[in-house]
Parts: sequence; structure tokens; C-alpha cells
Amino acid sequence: MNIHEYQAKDLLAKYGVPVPAGHAALTVDEAVAAAQKLPGPLWVVKAQIHAGGRGKGKFKELGPDAKGGVRLARSIDEVRAAADEMLGRTLVTIQTGEHGKEVNRLYITDGVDIDKEFYLALLVDRDTGRIAVVASTEGGMDIEAVAHDTPDRIETLTIDPATGLMPHHGRAVASALGLTGGLAKQCGSVLSQLYAAFVGTDASQIEINPLAVVGDTLMVLDAKVGFDSNAMFRHKDLVELRDLSEEDPMEIEASKYDLAYIKLDGEIGCMVNGAGLAMATMDIIKLNGAFPANFLDVGGGATREKVTAAFKIILSDPAVKGILVNIFGGIMKCDIIADGIIAAAREVDLKVPLVVRLEGTNVAEGKALLASSGLPIVAANDLGDAARKIVAEVKKAA
Ligand code: ADP
Ligand code: MG
Repeated sequence: MNIHEYQAKDLLAKYGVPVPAGHAALTVDEAVAAAQKLPGPLWVVKAQIHAGGRGKGKFKELGPDAKGGVRLARSIDEVRAAADEMLGRTLVTIQTGEHGKEVNRLYITDGVDIDKEFYLALLVDRDTGRIAVVASTEGGMDIEAVAHDTPDRIETLTIDPATGLMPHHGRAVASALGLTGGLAKQCGSVLSQLYAAFVGTDASQIEINPLAVVGDTLMVLDAKVGFDSNAMFRHKDLVELRDLSEEDPMEIEASKYDLAYIKLDGEIGCMVNGAGLAMATMDIIKLNGAFPANFLDVGGGATREKVTAAFKIILSDPAVKGILVNIFGGIMKCDIIADGIIAAAREVDLKVPLVVRLEGTNVAEGKALLASSGLPIVAANDLGDAARKIVAEVKKAA
């Protein structure tokens, strides 16, 4: 789960992290009021979308010469003009894809005089299974490009969970950033505050880009924070920060039924139980020359309601030209699943071919139910057979 920059900064400030003052705004008037609450004479008007690269981004509706999604304003009138130009427009950045994202929220913040920009991030390193700290002198830039072109300018440390963050980590980061004296000390504190925030919120990522030197202080000017969704049950306050307008509508619908759904680009909708089986199903569709339209794991306790919801979600994607159901009946018996499939297929008025492969407990009863349902369901005997059949059905219909 991701949150906006302004929410991330509010959260980090609670852990003592130094951030410039600022306020969120949903309208031009709110943006002006927010600016009036700040001292000025320099403000920054920042588009709030769940994607980075806003500064260098372009608005779809404005010409190529128009400014991006992070704008300096030297007067209240400039704040008003910037807010007016950004709200409701579509910002395209290197992280949004070509569709871009509509800007519905702004953040109005104190403009500061930057001497230097650094990159500092905490994330979960899958190779070591530990929290890693990534620091670079090349701040304010696209870190992927830095990693590609000048990997020696990136310093990575891993934190031993038994000791947690130690003072020597702070000194190592300060040294990597070339900081000395008071700034090196502040670097150590900021790092320990970020570490406390990371652990305290079950974060999966805290990315500061840039961490800026402003006179004799260090400040966080941009923050991207993401959390481990599986831990959100113990952070009700953080769940409130979720902005559904930033998420795929079908994925939101799926999360209501506890279905693991991810939209993909292909034409064959998949309904599978178990993530491993779902991956295998997607692979074998590809092997047979077609592409999956989604990843969908209905989970171990697939009830009739869940199966129906899953069908509706798959069918609401206009790209779907056929559905492959591949279910292993373990705890859930195959006849119950067949019952759910039949009910769902009737309820949603199925118009695309449906291939079903069932295996496991009560498989004979399940197959008999499908065969006698009168629905045009194609039964398959194994995974290979199922994939060949759905690909053939979809090609036949095309
Ligand atoms: P993004 O990474 O999405 O482009 P940032 O928040 O990093 O957005 O802003 C882009 C650049 O704008 C920063 O690298 C920094 O140079 C400048 N900037 C951001 N916030 C401020 C601020 N409060 N005062 C002055 N400059 C800022
Ligand atoms: Mg940034």
C-alpha cells in the first residue's frame, strides 16, 4: 500500500524527521489558503500522485513547454496559477506510464534554498532478508539511471535485525555522502528516525529523494513511503491514508472479496486457487501461444460468493476473450466448486468460452455437475489439456 508525499512527510515528522512545513489542498482556493498559512516568500506547489519523476513530468493537456508537476511560486498569485493549471490535469512521468495520472491533490510547501541533493532509501532487501539502506550523492535524479550509469556512487548497507540500526551505520552513510561535522551528526539522527519509522509502520520502502542540505541543516524534500499490505491489519490509522483513486478499480473490487487479483495485458482470464498454481497456469497459457489477462488467486476457501465475484471481475475486463478455471479441490471439494462455477456462469450471463479443469477431492462428482449443467463449459483433464483447449476456443471465436 502506498501513500502520498504529504502523508509520508506528516508521518515521518512524527518520528522527528526534518521536513519543510506544508499543507495539502484539493482546490485552488485551498491551495491559496495553504500558501497563506506559510511564511513565504517562496512556495512549492507539488502534484500529489503515487508516482515519482513529477518535477520532470509533463501535463498531457498542456504543451511540451509547460512546466511539470513540481513548481516554484514567488507570490500567492503564482501559487494560484500553478494550482489552477495542475488540478484536474493528467501528469505523465517516467513512472506513470503513457496514460499518466490525474492530479486531484496538491501539496503546498515552503520553498527552501538547496545547496546539495542526496538520495537515501530504506527497503527490504530480498537477497539478505534484511532492511537495506541505500545512499547516493546523486540525489534529485532518477536512481535507476544512477545505478545503471555510475553504480559506484551508490552505497548499500544491510542492517542486522538482532542489533538494529547502530551508530556506525549513520557514520558510514554520512561518509558516503561526504558529510562532516554537524551535518554528519544530523545524518545519523535522520537515519535512525527513518529506521524507527520503517520498523514502526511495517514499511516496505521509504525513499527520500532528495535529502537536501539547506544551509547548515539536512531536510527531507521528497518522500515515497510504501507499506507491507499484509501488516496493515495492525495499522488501522495508516489504512485510512489509502487513496482509492490511485488504485486499479478491479483490484479494489477484488480486495473486497479477499481475492488476489492483478490485471495483465492478455486475453485469457484465469481463475485459479493457490499462487503457485496461478503462476503455472499463466506460464502454460503463454507456452500455448496466448497471454493471461490477469493473475487471480481465489485462495483456499473459495466459496460460491467468491467464485461469483471473481467471475464478475474477470468479465468486467473487455480484453477477456475466454476464461480458464483451474482449481485444485483440497479442503474445498470439487463438487462445491463446480456448483459455484455453474451459479456464477448463470448469474453473469457468460458470453465467452469457459474451460474448466478440476482435480482433487470429489472430482468425479464435480465433473458430473458441470456436464449436466447445460452450460457450454469445456471440461479439461489436466493443465496442458486445459491450456490447449482455451487457446483453441479463443482462436476459434476470433
Ligand atoms: P519528483 O521526485 O516527483 O520529481 P520532488 O519532490 O523530488 O519530486 O521535486 C523535484 C525537485 O524539486 C527536487 O529534486 C528539488 O530540487 C525540488 N524541490 C522539491 N521540493 C522543494 C522545496 N520544498 N523547496 C525547494 N525545492 C524543492
Ligand atoms: Mg523526488
